[in-house]
Amino acid sequence: MVSFYPGPARIYDEIPTYVKDAAKEGVLSMNHRSPEFEALAKKTATLFRKKLGVPANYKVLYTSSATECWEIIAQSLITDKSYHFFNGAFGKKWFEYTLAINKNAEALLFSREEKIEPADFSFPYPQATICLTQNETSNGTQLDAGILKKFRKLNPAALIAVDATSSMAGIQLDFKQADVWFASVQKCFGLPAGLAVMICSPRAVERAKIIQEKLHYNSFANMVSMMEKWQTTHTPNVMGIYLLMRVLEKSDGIATIHQQTVERFRKWEAFAESNDRLKPLVENRQVRSYTVLPLKAETSVISTVKNKAKKAGFLLGEGYGELKTSTFRIANFPALRDREVKALMTFLKSLKK
Ligand SMILES: *Cc1c(COP(=O)(O)O)cnc(C)c1O
Repeated sequence: MVSFYPGPARIYDEIPTYVKDAAKEGVLSMNHRSPEFEALAKKTATLFRKKLGVPANYKVLYTSSATECWEIIAQSLITDKSYHFFNGAFGKKWFEYTLAINKNAEALLFSREEKIEPADFSFPYPQATICLTQNETSNGTQLDAGILKKFRKLNPAALIAVDATSSMAGIQLDFKQADVWFASVQKCFGLPAGLAVMICSPRAVERAKIIQEKLHYNSFANMVSMMEKWQTTHTPNVMGIYLLMRVLEKSDGIATIHQQTVERFRKWEAFAESNDRLKPLVENRQVRSYTVLPLKAETSVISTVKNKAKKAGFLLGEGYGELKTSTFRIANFPALRDREVKALMTFLKSLKK
């Protein structure tokens, strides 16, 4: 079965070998206070700079999930106000998790087809945290690099946090344009679940040091000070970090991957636009995600396609939430092979009549 699910997703073929290596190399019982772990954490951070273009002065921190990152930001970095822009389920969940911790969270909804213009928004609290979901996995939309750049330029005093869970390691992100980026690894990284990363700017670190929130096991200020010694506040997913290191080490680098992702996305786009029963859910080409493609059709067609696909060896992503019966989603993640993508396209075309 080839998984086109947008997370947990198809993993890289090399993962089983890396797991064996981890066992052989003693990684599975590695102590997280040991020099070996410190070397692993350091090497992985170096690879983030080399392979994903993370700036030298940004910190790489480990958590267990993107959901945990939502809470860390809410508890440790948001002082007064947070502004949450969203058009789908993940952005909404982030807002709701934040609201439970901090009553001053404010939602700014936009529609799935809308390309937001940062200049249309002004924030009465200039030091607020602006929360953006770069890639909304539930409906296959994205905020492009230009939008992120404008948010940064227009709000120099704000802290900008970006959920890039289903795009980091799949497309090129300009990390300088925000302060906190996070992603769990079971999507574009092509790894098994149970690990997430937070990429943090000097400004985010500075703010955490001023706030000094230390009430939680995962308080950001503590995480940062431990990582200054290449350590973590608690025993982390050491095997996950090792697998991440191996995948990054083997990676061609994000410029190449980005190009492949976009090329493949264009093929899917052309496929969907020329198909007479399956159509792209998102009509506005300017906001379509490069990494998650929802297709819509009549309800009866959707269930037939999903069932037949399963029998043919393709696992399609369920439509998310209220889109469950009218759409399915196809991941366009780097670990998928060209031949698998071609095979799925051929299969979907064969169902046409
Ligand atoms: C999958 C996903 C999450 C949740 O990730 P977990 O690792 O399950 O916490 C959050 N945000 C986005 C955009 C996602 O795609």
